[in-house]
Amino acid sequence: MGRRVLITGGAGFIGSHTCLVLLEAGYDLLVLDNFSNSSPEALTRVAAISSVSLNSTRLQIEHGDIRNPHTLDQLFSDAAANDRPFDAVIHFAGLKAVGESFQKPLLYWDVNVSGSRTLLAAMEAHACCTLVFSSSATVYGFPKDVPIPESAPIQPINPYGFSKAAVEQMLADLNASAPNTWRIACLRYFNPVGAHPSGQIGEDPLGFPNNLFPFVSQVAVGRRDQLQVFGSDWPTHDGTGVRDYIHVMDLADGHKAALDSLLKEGPQHLICNLGSGAGKSVLDVVNAYAAASGQNIPYALVDRRPGDAAITIADPTRAANTLSWRTKRTLSDICRDGWTWQQANPMGYRESA
Ligand code: NAD
Ligand code: UDP
Repeated sequence: MGRRVLITGGAGFIGSHTCLVLLEAGYDLLVLDNFSNSSPEALTRVAAISSVSLNSTRLQIEHGDIRNPHTLDQLFSDAAANDRPFDAVIHFAGLKAVGESFQKPLLYWDVNVSGSRTLLAAMEAHACCTLVFSSSATVYGFPKDVPIPESAPIQPINPYGFSKAAVEQMLADLNASAPNTWRIACLRYFNPVGAHPSGQIGEDPLGFPNNLFPFVSQVAVGRRDQLQVFGSDWPTHDGTGVRDYIHVMDLADGHKAALDSLLKEGPQHLICNLGSGAGKSVLDVVNAYAAASGQNIPYALVDRRPGDAAITIADPTRAANTLSWRTKRTLSDICRDGWTWQQANPMGYRESA
């Protein structure tokens, strides 16, 4: 039997791609998700791509909420009773929309912070002390220097970022309370985009997309008329904002690398950027997507979006040194795979769900 991992939020964008990579690597998975921002169809497709049976020992699904201590206690107790305890947890479940976090801060503290606390309490109670946590480059706020090393100050600028920083601090405190017990990897993602090359799974935002990449995809497929480019007077090579876009399959590989390392190397508290180290502007993305899709992507240059940084780029050195992980896929791979997904599923999972 393979190692067994509890994946919270495993039906979501990054979770579903990571499930695929872990199943293909031989891990057995139990996904806990409340489907507040995802569809069970994503996991049906993950099972199909990896040729495992849904709800077999390889891939189980539990519809539940990380904030419910009884649900978590039951999962860990059942796992132990069946002699299949969890070797580790990968914790994706959470809310991620920066704008919404200003409107509903208590919800963000509840799901992201209280939910993580409830999960950690269950892990502690059941002596499961290996965790990979989804953090974010958002914790750096407006970075002073780019590329951004992990040693840069943590200074969030929105409630979402504060919620991630709070969980990072909770993990540091927990680790300090029980030295040589916990195996923790906090992964600070930069901008995850793209899709599995099969076009079967990908990003499926509910409603109006806040992020650049899904918006560009929806313009290309004809769901939206034009992109608004937020600012053309940034101090960048073409005046538009620069980000470090990372193919979601590279990110999924990064989770496998972190999990393998924690299970192999023993107690530690690793904090690691996951990014490519390369910056691309909004117009770079538009041009690459137009080239990959063969579609015209109309856009209008408009005012800056409040709260945006000019440039965020990861310093990915630590991930290379500690996890032997680096990105392999290019912006053109990202656009090609994103377009394959968008074309095959113009309305996301909804049509087939
Ligand atoms: P997503 O919304 O697609 O996935 C999150 C999943 O968690 C969804 O399936 C959702 O239904 C589930 N979920 C939410 N609240 C839950 C709860 N209370 N109980 C159980 N399940 C719950 O988001 P994603 O892009 O896959 O992001 C995964 C993680 O990575 C999140 O924690 C996010 O904050 C973090 N992150 C994402 C990005 C990004 O740009 N996508 C960047 C940095 C960090
Ligand atoms: N952006 C844009 N139009 C959009 C969405 C985003 O011009 O409709 C820009 C945004 O200003 C930033 C970049 O695209 O420079 C990436 O934005 P996204 O929201 O995807 O990521 P984040 O800013 O959270 O890193």
